[in-house]
Amino acid sequence: MIIDSQDTIVAIATAPGEGGIGIVRVSGASAERLLNQYFDSAGCDPQLTSHRLYYGHFRHSDGELIDEVMAVIMRAPRSYTREDVVEVHCHGVSVVLRRIVDLLVDAGARLARPGEFTLRAFLNGRIDLTRAEAVIDVIRSRSEAACRVALGQMEGRLSREIFRFRDGISDLLAEVEAGIDFPEEELPLADRQRLIETSSLLEGQMAALLDSFESGRILRDGLSILIFGKPNVGKSSLMNSLLGEARTIVSDIPGTTRDTVEESLLLRGMPLRLIDTAGVRQTHDPVEVQGVQRAQAKVAGVDLVLLVVDGSQTLDEDDCKALQSCDPERTLLVLNKEDLGSCQLPAEFTSLPALSISARSASGIDLLLDGIVNFFSRSTGSEGRETSLLSDRRHRESLLLARNALERFRLSLDADHPSEFGALELSEALHALGEITGETAPEDILEKIFTRFCIGK
Ligand code: GDP
Repeated sequence: MIIDSQDTIVAIATAPGEGGIGIVRVSGASAERLLNQYFDSAGCDPQLTSHRLYYGHFRHSDGELIDEVMAVIMRAPRSYTREDVVEVHCHGVSVVLRRIVDLLVDAGARLARPGEFTLRAFLNGRIDLTRAEAVIDVIRSRSEAACRVALGQMEGRLSREIFRFRDGISDLLAEVEAGIDFPEEELPLADRQRLIETSSLLEGQMAALLDSFESGRILRDGLSILIFGKPNVGKSSLMNSLLGEARTIVSDIPGTTRDTVEESLLLRGMPLRLIDTAGVRQTHDPVEVQGVQRAQAKVAGVDLVLLVVDGSQTLDEDDCKALQSCDPERTLLVLNKEDLGSCQLPAEFTSLPALSISARSASGIDLLLDGIVNFFSRSTGSEGRETSLLSDRRHRESLLLARNALERFRLSLDADHPSEFGALELSEALHALGEITGETAPEDILEKIFTRFCIGK
């Protein structure tokens, strides 16, 4: 059971390792009492003022000095958790941090679970679930773009949209329920028409938010790029060129990269996930066959495929087989080994956007990067970075459920079905929206979300 908010909790809030400062955070009704037990504020006011940082010493009850510290109390409700919160800023050394935590635990605090401070902020109504989830996304963000999306969500951009939908649907439900209470008074046609219009307007707004999911996902998780092609065309060499460092095996024996290798990186500020695959060719080696199958399966799940061929050789059946697995809308043809010359392309390859490079000398890599940047910009849209975006699969699924329920409501009005049916659909839509913001999220969802957090947040 993660929801257990009576205790006063304590955790080290700063990252492990050596640092100038380390912070111990305490939240709960006994936070101030616990601080007073160990903190000697060197003659300052005995009653500490809220939100003011005090210099002093943290001492064991026998008087032993634990560290020279700064301490602050943030009294409820003006705190991260809306409870009394205390922070002790000591030197960033794990022995000191741990001793402070141990003493606070001896005096009655409990070690906090991952994400428990943020869980309390949510349970105490300071933030909704989307904003709580964004906290972990901000901490984990690996690129400026991902950080921007997460900060927007943390600041409430997504939940404001969801609350707007919720209010719209609640209004619809109130009108429909009024109709149910007075069944002899049929909803006049004009009213029904108006409800249909309001519903389809809301559906359109929800659809627009759903459409922003792809760009939100790419900004948050990075554009996934699969390096694909038959063996020995230079896929690993290209991966290495892009990574700027040797990472995968580069060898003359076809088929050495038998499985997939994945790297996350930033190129010109773009978050990318680069996946190198087993060479795709006809083979009877069972291990290689599996690698080839895994590579082919990956093609469907990525944003962009770099189809690598040896441009100095006439393309063959294995190249054509690789081409057949690709979606032309999401494929860039990379003609590698341009230093060895170039051959005429078979007709089926000529419709793809193509670039000549040499992975060995890195010539043409800049142009390839330009191609990837263009693809990234097209996928995320220039306005996508500024507007409120949907970037989380959980949110998307619930919003989709809500939109579908609303659509069924509209169709039931259209078909003049009894109002009870329509009311049920609207309640279902409200429930799905509540899962996004947390009002109706079951405990197992909360558990899944908050265990992704680090301790101390
Ligand atoms: P993979 O099987 O597709 O991953 O291919 P590798 O990256 O292992 O490369 C196969 C061979 O081609 C290695 O000997 C590389 O050094 C060589 N190679 C890769 N790129 C180039 C290139 O641009 N020019 C030349 N001349 N050789 C290359």
